[in-house]
Amino acid sequence: MKKNILVITAFISEIEENDEEKQILEIDDLIDKFGKKDRLTWIQTRKIFLNKKSLNCGQCDICKNWVTNIEKNDPIPYLPNGVIYKGKLLCDEHLPKNHKWAFN
Ligand SMILES: [Zn+2]
Repeated sequence: MKKNILVITAFISEIEENDEEKQILEIDDLIDKFGKKDRLTWIQTRKIFLNKKSLNCGQCDICKNWVTNIEKNDPIPYLPNGVIYKGKLLCDEHLPKNHKWAFN
């Protein structure tokens, strides 16, 4: 008996604004190659331009990884969770171990 698994993965890429179109094509090529592995069937690619002012996203104050504030509206589902702790945005890896959103 076979089962189907929806594999969701996310990448972040930093691109230069003055070379955006070319670099997005390069990203598409990388995704094409990644999706052609034997056991994976590509079904969708979605790109979100991360904007700290208009979207619920930011960078952990310690590790600078991108996160979404899980306690605010409209969290971005493909980003790791983060929250404001003592005035700083922290990812789940850098929250105190006893914090309810800390990664255990
Ligand atoms: Zn962090």
